[in-house]
Amino acid sequence: MEIKILFDKETINRSLHRGWGVSFLIDERILFDTGENGRWLLRNMKNLKVNVNKIIAVVISHDHWDHTGGLWKLLENREELKVYSCPNFSLNFKEKVERSGGKLIETEKVSEIAERIFVTGEIAGEYKGRYMPEQALIVRTEKGLTIITGCSHPGIIKIVEKVKKDFPDMKIHLVFGGFHLIDKSKQEVRFIAEKLKEIGIEKAGPTHCSGYDAQVIFKEIYEDNLIFIKTGQILEI
Ligand SMILES: [Zn+2]
Ligand SMILES: [Zn+2]
Repeated sequence: MEIKILFDKETINRSLHRGWGVSFLIDERILFDTGENGRWLLRNMKNLKVNVNKIIAVVISHDHWDHTGGLWKLLENREELKVYSCPNFSLNFKEKVERSGGKLIETEKVSEIAERIFVTGEIAGEYKGRYMPEQALIVRTEKGLTIITGCSHPGIIKIVEKVKKDFPDMKIHLVFGGFHLIDKSKQEVRFIAEKLKEIGIEKAGPTHCSGYDAQVIFKEIYEDNLIFIKTGQILEI
């Protein structure tokens, strides 16, 4: 299965927009997050030859501007698009989705939203002392599970452990996305990277709010199994 990186802080070439937040397209059908800016997202989609009409649903990891920013422009082009959110996202977000013509679906527990593609359901997280619910995406292939995260405000270890509990017989091939390690000490980051390896995560792709220091530390631990995520890239999973 293919994952296209539509938006992140680095790009493979200069014709693509880059910035804060992430947007990943899974198997041409499911969009995970929408980055900070709708015009940039649509431009990148055009440059990367994405057929917007093939997208059947958008999964929003959490209610932060750098993950929801592109959604509104997308809904202008694609009314009735399913938008998966957590039950405790802000009322403001939910109302805006409906006002913009999206079909809001709230997922409390792990659920299959398309063949071999799942959402974790709401995981409790915290941001600046406030409750911040978040969900991650799970893709099942012959290689095992791939977990895709937005910002990991609940904590990357907590997210991975929940997926392990929900899929006890599956190995985890890859985890990538925002791990929110930007405000952690090098020691803490090393502990987390080692823990992920110990849990059995084969490959890791910390990006976005993981921070550059974390990428360096993860590289030491994951060596050739570390993936640097860039806008325009296609991951084969
Ligand atoms: Zn973020
Ligand atoms: Zn966030």
